[in-house]
Amino acid sequence: MEVPKLLRMNGGDGTYSYSKNSFLQRKVLSITRPIVEEALETLYSEMKFPKTMIMADLGCSSGPNTILLISDLVNSIENIRLKLGHEKSPNIHIHLNDLPHNDFNTIFLLISEYQKKLTLPASSSSPPCYFSGVPGSFYTRLFLDKSIHFVHSSYSLMWLSQVPEMSETNKGNVYMSDTSPRSVIKAYREQFQNDFLMFLKCRAQEVVDGGHMVLTILGRRNEDPCSKENLYSWDLLAAALTDMVNEGHIEEEKLESFNIPLYHAYAKEVSDAIEEEGSFMIDCLKISEVNWDASTGENPDFSQENGQGYNMGKCMRAVAEPLVLSHFGESVIEEVFVRFTNNIRNFMSKHNPKNVNITVSVTRKR
Ligand code: SAH
Repeated sequence: MEVPKLLRMNGGDGTYSYSKNSFLQRKVLSITRPIVEEALETLYSEMKFPKTMIMADLGCSSGPNTILLISDLVNSIENIRLKLGHEKSPNIHIHLNDLPHNDFNTIFLLISEYQKKLTLPASSSSPPCYFSGVPGSFYTRLFLDKSIHFVHSSYSLMWLSQVPEMSETNKGNVYMSDTSPRSVIKAYREQFQNDFLMFLKCRAQEVVDGGHMVLTILGRRNEDPCSKENLYSWDLLAAALTDMVNEGHIEEEKLESFNIPLYHAYAKEVSDAIEEEGSFMIDCLKISEVNWDASTGENPDFSQENGQGYNMGKCMRAVAEPLVLSHFGESVIEEVFVRFTNNIRNFMSKHNPKNVNITVSVTRKR
C-alpha cells in the first residue's frame, strides 16, 4: 500500500465527506484550544511583538475544521496583542499542509469565504492574513530553514508513513489487537518511532529558535498496546471484514494483506521520542478524552432511530473509505461500511467508548 498516494479523508461535502463527518475531531480542537492559546501567548511575548507570524497546520484535511483552526489562530493572536497592549497587529501567514491527494480545492473555496468576512467593516481590526497550501508528507521537509514560528497539528500524526513491514501475518486483524503476534506490535511501534523522529528532525530545521509546536494525536491509555483497556475502533472493522470473508464476499488473502497505517501512541512514547531527538523542550503534555458520541455534533442527519453509532460509522467512513476502497474494491465497499457501522452501533449501545488524545506543547531550543 502506497500510503502517501492512498491516504486521504473523503473530500467534497457529500454524505460521507470529512467536511460533514468530523464533529469528533472538531471537539478535539476545542478541547485543546487553551493549550494552543497558551503557547501562542508565550511565543508572541517572547518574540517581543513580531511584525510577522508564520504558522503551519500539518495534516489540515479539508472542511470546517480547517477554517475553525485558522480562525482560532488569527483570533488568538489578535486577543493576545490586545491583552498585551500592543498597537499594531502582525501580518499572519498560515501554511496549510496535507498529502497531495487531499481536497485542497474545498479548503481554498472556504478560505476565500473566510477572507471576505475578515475584510468586512465589522472586523476592520483583523490582522492582515495570508494563506497557502503546501502539499507533501510531514515526514519530509516542507518549509525553508528557520522560517516557521508556530506549528499546529491535530489528529494527523498518528498516521504512519507506511504500513509497518511485518514478518508474520496479522491474521483476522487490520491493526494491533490482543490477538496480533508480538512481532506485529513491535513493527507498529518501531514504525511510529521512526516516523515521529523523522517528523521532529524535519521540524527542528524549519522552526525558528524559540518557536513552538502544539501536536495532538490519537493515543492510548495503557502502556501495553494489546491491553483490552485500549480501545481501537479498527477491531470493529476487522470483525466486519472477517464476517464477509466467512460468507465468501472477500478473499481471505485480501484481508490478511490489509493493515491500517496508524499507531495509537502511549504518552511516554511521544515524550521519549522528543527527548531522544533533542531539539525541542516539552512545555506540557496533556491527556484528554472525547466520547465517540461527539461524532454526532450538530449533524442534521442525526436521528434517535439511527442511533449514535450511525454517526460514528459515518465519521469512520469519512476517514477510512479511500484506504478500504483501494484495497477491497468498489463492489464490496457499501457492505463493508454497513457492517462496520452496525458493529459500532452495537458496541456503543453497550459501552461508552472514548478516544484518548495526547497533546504535547514544545519549544524549539535556542
Ligand atoms: N487536522 C484536521 C484533519 C485531521 S484528519 C482535523 O483536526 O480535523 C488527518 C489528516 O492528516 C488527513 O487529511 C491526512 O491526509 C493527513 N495526513 C496523514 N498523514 C500525513 C502526512 N504524512 N503528511 C501530511 N498529512 C498527512
